[in-house]
Amino acid sequence: MTRRQLLRHTAWFGSAVVLTIAGGEVISQLGGGDPPSAAADDANALRFVQISDSHIGFTGPANTMVEQSFSEAIGQINALPYRPSFVMHTGDLTHLSTPDQFDQVRQMLGTIRTDQTYTVPGEHDGVDDHGAKYRQFFGKGTKGDGWYSFDLGGAHFISLVNTLGLETMGHLGADQLEFVRKDVAHLSSDTPIVVFSHIPLFAMYPKWGWSTDDSVQALSYLKRFASVTCLNGHVHQLFTKTEGNVTFFSATTTAYPLPKPGEGPAPTPVTLPAGQLHAALGIREVSYVRGGQQGLAIKDRRLV
Ligand SMILES: [Zn+2]
Ligand SMILES: [Zn+2]
Repeated sequence: MTRRQLLRHTAWFGSAVVLTIAGGEVISQLGGGDPPSAAADDANALRFVQISDSHIGFTGPANTMVEQSFSEAIGQINALPYRPSFVMHTGDLTHLSTPDQFDQVRQMLGTIRTDQTYTVPGEHDGVDDHGAKYRQFFGKGTKGDGWYSFDLGGAHFISLVNTLGLETMGHLGADQLEFVRKDVAHLSSDTPIVVFSHIPLFAMYPKWGWSTDDSVQALSYLKRFASVTCLNGHVHQLFTKTEGNVTFFSATTTAYPLPKPGEGPAPTPVTLPAGQLHAALGIREVSYVRGGQQGLAIKDRRLV
């Protein structure tokens, strides 16, 4: 699959995308069924799971049981044939940022069979306090408004907060941009970089705020790296795009779908016909083999 074909291939479930860097060129393969990469079976592979947009506390008709579907997503992670190194929740943990909702989602995350859970805040996690309650529950060890980075399995992971300076779209701000610049300065250019954020770092649909106004600056610090993968939530649907050395993957939700870009007047919850909700929800498996071909294998799975 060429880069151009990947660009056109906007959403899928149950297929694997393998991104391989060879001679500086991104080679992407789309396969059906199980991940074709060795990463899936390699005991040395780093494997993690991304979940997103659980919206604990949401009570609308699009999903009257968000706690139940989030719990099912956790069950699906716990039933994986391996124990993920970590699980990343890319934001909108809660719907309205109440202490009860934060407490509930934290307790639920604590039931996941994994070494570590990480989070980034969505705009629903900073409804009335610029993320203060979010940081009380999830901000331990983070910097600034809650950003941080870590190294694992030979890759470097950066978790960004682009939901707090929110006016019309995502925003990182000068302090966080400086954090990114310094954070990667010491890394060698062949270190695979994975960036987490709630709102996409690419212009998925700026009219609905599905973009980050200063992400170009952040990505400019990552230009020299051979492999950069950005994983986000917020849009409640699968989408991927490659720009230069960076590939972006929007994740689906465990709560309720949103319309496709431009379909309808606003990104408001979509109520699907009875029995169809689970097919729109899911979890994402990601694997990476150190010292391999620097490929990140990504597999989106429907909620079962
Ligand atoms: Zn959301
Ligand atoms: Zn959001």
